[in-house]
Amino acid sequence: MNFTICITRQCNKTCSFCYLSKSSNDISLEKIINLLSSIHLEHISITGGEPLLHYELKKIIRWLERRCKRLFLLTNGLLLDDDWVRFFLKNRTELFVSINNLSDLSVINYFSNNNTILNIHHVLTENSLEVLCFLNEKLSFFNSIVLLYPVKLNNDLKMYSYDEWKGLINSTKRIFEKNLDKLFFEPAFISKKGTLYKHPRCNSKQVSFIDTSGLIYPCCLLADIIEGETEATNTHCDPSNCPVLGTPMKLPDNVNQICPLIIKSIQSEVVFSPADIK
Ligand code: SF4
Ligand code: SF4
Repeated sequence: MNFTICITRQCNKTCSFCYLSKSSNDISLEKIINLLSSIHLEHISITGGEPLLHYELKKIIRWLERRCKRLFLLTNGLLLDDDWVRFFLKNRTELFVSINNLSDLSVINYFSNNNTILNIHHVLTENSLEVLCFLNEKLSFFNSIVLLYPVKLNNDLKMYSYDEWKGLINSTKRIFEKNLDKLFFEPAFISKKGTLYKHPRCNSKQVSFIDTSGLIYPCCLLADIIEGETEATNTHCDPSNCPVLGTPMKLPDNVNQICPLIIKSIQSEVVFSPADIK
């Protein structure tokens, strides 16, 4: 089974698009062991908040690394240093770093000086141009860049319409035109003629979300909205009750919204969850 574990809701940033309410409760390694020790683990993503603020992060990684096929850490990168990078390499932890503003770019410079290969998460907006141009120049240091659709949940975001989102994706394609194989994105909308519309996919079938409380949810967007489960069985969402898909949006007749957590390669129709990027 695949899990995303939110180990802490503390964070050293205040991003406008963040949907997770902050609290000081962290999940303990003991609780993670109780939840997962009898389960066959495939892909595990450690997230937050900012996971590097967790008091037991190294112990958690050492325990998980021995039990899962691939281990990912999602971080804003601000606290990364040589010691952490060595530790992650030794414990085969693959990094996804969120790069959203010009102020985040020092993290990229740090990694390019260390010859470390990264995966990048970027919340795509109309203000992304400068950051994306910089990322394109440093592309040899990235395994992938995943463009995320900003969702309105516990924040004041304006969610992009189909035409706006398509326009942003097309501008991004032009920037990365020679390296499209590294580009992935959340399509958020789907043509009613496409295979995805006929055979809808939802991220909750691939990955369950464990919150700092130890409760299990079908997806991270539901953690502050519904009551979680106590057993780490595969929990599925009801897309008709999705907090994002439930937001009324005017759409062209031939287009529908899809689960906003589905990732697609920019070059093909293949969809998967971020942890499946090779
Ligand atoms: S870095 Fe992540 S967890 Fe922290 S405020 Fe930004 S989106 Fe939220
Ligand atoms: S459809 Fe909505 S609730 Fe279900 S996994 Fe996707 S984002 Fe989450």
